[in-house]
Amino acid sequence: MKVFEKIKDIQPYLAALKAEGKSIGFVPTMGALHDGHLQLVKTSVSKNDITVVSIFVNPIQFNNPEDLAKYPRTLEADVDKLAGAGCDIVFSPSENEMYPEPDNTGMEFGGLEKVMEGRFRPGHFRGVGIVVKRLFEITTPDRAYFGEKDYQQLAIIKYMVKNLSIPVEIIPCPIVREADGLAMSSRNMRLTPEHRAMAPEIYKALLRAKENYSWFIPSGLEKLVTTEIEQNPGLKVEYATVADSVTLQPFEDWMDTEHAVLCVAVFAGNVRLIDNIILY
Ligand code: AMP
Repeated sequence: MKVFEKIKDIQPYLAALKAEGKSIGFVPTMGALHDGHLQLVKTSVSKNDITVVSIFVNPIQFNNPEDLAKYPRTLEADVDKLAGAGCDIVFSPSENEMYPEPDNTGMEFGGLEKVMEGRFRPGHFRGVGIVVKRLFEITTPDRAYFGEKDYQQLAIIKYMVKNLSIPVEIIPCPIVREADGLAMSSRNMRLTPEHRAMAPEIYKALLRAKENYSWFIPSGLEKLVTTEIEQNPGLKVEYATVADSVTLQPFEDWMDTEHAVLCVAVFAGNVRLIDNIILY
């Protein structure tokens, strides 16, 4: 496995592989890798000649400076895990390498960026869009792998690729969970033992919602999920939102859409966790 830090080194290396006709699969990450990330990597390895994984904690997608400062950074362990998963190339650029100049590019995603995460994390998806577009330009993948854990991000990347005619196939991958149901996340390692013990209640509430949604109107289901999660002292719901799973827009009646998703953001102490479930 090769590790690159500079764009000027990785670009010709990948260009030569492409010239040999090799297909490139790409997995963008912010590191602190867990089995959720590694599942994306293994899927890419099984479908492409070459798998490239980027590790870059992208400062411009953080709206909260404390979240950025406390984001776990475990590069050495990450590189070992990637070698074990069959990754061929790691790209771990510095901040200066990715942003030699401040980037003022505007980004909009047809309204997909205005709800849920976009409402509570202003500028977040602009930062995601800018970094993913750059990483695509650097790594020129045939396919790129994204987790359904970040459901809205996946919808936004699909939109961006279509809207800008970027020649890459976006492959969604299912959420990987701990044995107790908690969605794997790099932020989980920041949970106190008390908050870690109650965090699986988030997924349990989502499962109950999926089972019983038809008894409620969408806004009623959102209230129920919020109440259930907040029965655990230490868990605070930032949003629980039922949305059309394609447009991400809210709706009033289950008859209004053929596919719905329930997304939540929950503070477990000062750690912000997100999760979601497809209702139908
Ligand atoms: P991150 O490092 O958190 O930016 O995540 C990098 C990629 O891994 C994104 O496409 C995430 O959606 C995906 N990912 C993170 N956690 C999980 C998980 N538990 N299951 C599946 N994919 C995940």
